[in-house]
Amino acid sequence: MASEQVTAGSAQLFDRACAVTPGGVNSPVRAFAAVGGTPRFITSARGAWLTDADDNRYVDLVCSWGPMILGHAHPAVVEAVQRAASDGLSFGAPTAAETELAAEIIARVAPVQQVRLVNSGTEATMSALRLARGFTGRTKVVKFSGCYHGHVDALLADAGSGVATLALPASPGVTGASAADTLVLPYNDIDAVTAAFERHGDEIAAVITEASPGNMGVVAPADGFNAALRAITADHGALLILDEVMTGFRVSESGWYGLDPVDADLFTFGKVVSGGLPAAAFGGRAEVMARLAPLGPVYQAGTLSGNPVATAAGLATLRNATADVYAALDTAADRLAGLLSEELTKVGVAHQIPRAGNMLSVFFADAPVTDFAAARASETWRFPPFFHALLEAGVYPPCSAFEAWFVSAALDDTAFETIAAALPAAAAAAAGAEQPR
Ligand SMILES: *Cc1c(COP(=O)(O)O)cnc(C)c1O
Repeated sequence: MASEQVTAGSAQLFDRACAVTPGGVNSPVRAFAAVGGTPRFITSARGAWLTDADDNRYVDLVCSWGPMILGHAHPAVVEAVQRAASDGLSFGAPTAAETELAAEIIARVAPVQQVRLVNSGTEATMSALRLARGFTGRTKVVKFSGCYHGHVDALLADAGSGVATLALPASPGVTGASAADTLVLPYNDIDAVTAAFERHGDEIAAVITEASPGNMGVVAPADGFNAALRAITADHGALLILDEVMTGFRVSESGWYGLDPVDADLFTFGKVVSGGLPAAAFGGRAEVMARLAPLGPVYQAGTLSGNPVATAAGLATLRNATADVYAALDTAADRLAGLLSEELTKVGVAHQIPRAGNMLSVFFADAPVTDFAAARASETWRFPPFFHALLEAGVYPPCSAFEAWFVSAALDDTAFETIAAALPAAAAAAAGAEQPR
């Protein structure tokens, strides 16, 4: 299919980037490795729209991989950031805003009694894991195949997101010792968890799971799965860590906890809680959090943690994420899923549009996908032509079949008209894709 879209500007910027940065990107998924083509270099974004270096405009269905629930450059968030910046960028001393952000998180997620702010989701899960090991005095951790918890050494095994997109089974640079302490189990398989605890019950510090996975595509927990993890961990004196970096404050005011209230010991947050600046958090039971330095011996720190500008962005985002916003996100997700399903049905392509609240993804498969093996077995080769047809028509979906699609409250009728106009050709491209041999 001949392309009308001009991408010379992005192509030139990508060449220059590749000369100075590995793969031209600062996070692997951005490189379009799984779909091919030129990554678009973004120059600005407002509301539901991205603008690239060639002045192409796109309806954004990635939202910075989750954070931008209010849409880009939301006036209240930008104003809060400008105000904070004009008062100084970083002090290395406490500020009142950090307490306000912690209180906002605590007010929304009942089991969270104390919060520590960090700079990324990776730091949140890394710190939660260290804390769980310090609290229990045990070494092993259970994670699930296809779940991604950032690029923490111990949690990279069989991970989702870019690790899945690039089909890396494990990462060189992670030592055998650190991998050996990680038990990787199939997702949604409670029997496998029971068996692991029968063998290693008194060595397991924690089970960590995405509250509802979105890094192998969207694969929601089976009814009662998280509750069963809670029961098994409690029986064996292990902690349960629910990773809400993606779902937290996105799928409801209280994140996945609002849809499936399971009292984990520790929760991790990032993405939405950052408002789009580098910030994240972890929190949980006061008794566990009290083991962190300076109260306790488990060390955890950060020169820029609780940064005043990032804290202002997170706080302004949460304060503007009202019930109306969550209703708008749900409506937008319903509308998007409906359009996707309608067009893919018309062209007769087997597909699943799994949902986890307002998160969704597209699997080319004829049966529901409940774990990473099924996600990998889907017809992922249909995804690149589907993706590129949408991109050409001014819609920016995630550039991998293993990533979630993210809506914002800024998606309006004009945005949906663009999506609706783009979908017939994209569905046809998916239908016409040929399986590589
Ligand atoms: C994005 C993500 C992380 C990592 O967060 P970063 O800010 O990219 O380090 C961890 N866990 C989950 C569930 C995520 O989606």
